[in-house]
Amino acid sequence: MAPLGWIAGLGLAGLAAGGCAYAAMWPGSRLFGDTLIAPRRPGQLALTFDDGPNLACTPQLLETLASHEVCATFFLLGSRAEAEPALVRRIAAAGHLIGNHSWSHPNLALSGRTRIREELQRTRDALQQITGNPVRYFRPPFGARRPATLTLARELGMVPVLWNAMTSDWSDPSGERIAERLISRIDRITRQGWAANIVLHDGGHLDPRANRGPSLTAAGLLLARFKPIHRFVTVDAWDQQEPSPARA
Ligand SMILES: [Zn+2]
Repeated sequence: MAPLGWIAGLGLAGLAAGGCAYAAMWPGSRLFGDTLIAPRRPGQLALTFDDGPNLACTPQLLETLASHEVCATFFLLGSRAEAEPALVRRIAAAGHLIGNHSWSHPNLALSGRTRIREELQRTRDALQQITGNPVRYFRPPFGARRPATLTLARELGMVPVLWNAMTSDWSDPSGERIAERLISRIDRITRQGWAANIVLHDGGHLDPRANRGPSLTAAGLLLARFKPIHRFVTVDAWDQQEPSPARA
């Protein structure tokens, strides 16, 4: 009995540790609290861009989006927004939705409550001051969170947003390959009856002028392919809507 119990105990401990990592990092997990991902609206796509604003890439991205007459969601870093307020205002003036991606991109699954609050509040206040608009959405850096991350975001008036379509666009030099992987993911999600919440990066949290040419190319390819057949929305269109996959 004892050895079996010991082995079972080990198994449970392993499961608990695995479950914890899943809850903290997996975008679809709701074990640490509810997040906004995507509703049952196949054919709706939200293009979301993280880690900007980036003077080297965001202006070009704005032109691409404008040429397709599509609005996207930008999860901005507070520190970068403070350095480039004119670019932030330009994003807002073009009709895009601006969300909070923390001040300095820490792992908020490993941060204390004080640090989490400071990262979220400082960014929210800076973005609101720059644009004059309330900030209602927050995406945790790396998708990493713990229950306090989500609770604090809500206490500060923001809805936590994850995603259901991402690839490693930050490390792939081929925009075509990035687009190809995202297209097959989006097609699958659509067939399964869900809207697609797509992540790309117009900035880099380690480099304020990161070259995101491949991500921009991929965005252009997604727009060209899906604009005629699907509907692009910003994530606020899905707030308070039907349940997402993990709740279904
Ligand atoms: Zn990020």
